[in-house]
Amino acid sequence: MKEYTVRESDKFICIFTKSNGKLMVNAPYAKRHNRGLASATEVFVYGQFVIQENRGNYKLIQVDIIEPFHNLRKDLFKLAYGAYILEFIDVTMEENLASANVLRLVIRTFQAMCSGAIKESLIRHIFELKHMCLIGFMPNVFNCNICNKSYKEIDHLCFDISEGGLVCGNCCDLEGAYCHKISRGTLRTMQYIVSVHIDDLFKFTVTDEILNEYGQIITDYIDYYINKKFKTLEFIKDIETI
Ligand SMILES: [Zn+2]
Repeated sequence: MKEYTVRESDKFICIFTKSNGKLMVNAPYAKRHNRGLASATEVFVYGQFVIQENRGNYKLIQVDIIEPFHNLRKDLFKLAYGAYILEFIDVTMEENLASANVLRLVIRTFQAMCSGAIKESLIRHIFELKHMCLIGFMPNVFNCNICNKSYKEIDHLCFDISEGGLVCGNCCDLEGAYCHKISRGTLRTMQYIVSVHIDDLFKFTVTDEILNEYGQIITDYIDYYINKKFKTLEFIKDIETI
């Protein structure tokens, strides 16, 4: 969904598709505002894209908009968070790697942001954990990752990022750089996110305390397994301190 202007009237757009994953597509004439493609190729637009392929080059022919997600462009916070979601997809999904579930997750995430029922930062962290699960980095949040004890029998809960999830008080190395103490509320939040269907993800809210604790853990988790700097996160930090 990024834009690259090529000539005065053309632009390249990046589309995340259900069947072909991420595609760079030439959208001829899309910069001319009197042509129908201009608004249909704006960032965040969800629709049916008719694309012609010619020797590995893709050209946009027509778009039927399903959901333009206008609200994401009207509010600076939503715009920043929406851009982060797209950057996250861009960084973590290789070209042509298709995933209907990832597309579904992005759509549900944008819908949650537009509805405004829950905080953008919680939506962001829910998206992050679910997306990590979809691309093969699901943490084990039900048993100690070392001795396999069930979370129900653990008194002192810890989350060890390098171990890939929950560890019990006996196994955890609190001196270790990757170990966090985790409250039962935060653990429950993570258990819900990893196990629930994508359509039911954005149906809860949490206290600020849990949001902060969970936000720290998921941010460190992504840092460890993805290890990329996200430009849009810098922007989010900037506008949140204004
Ligand atoms: Zn253990």
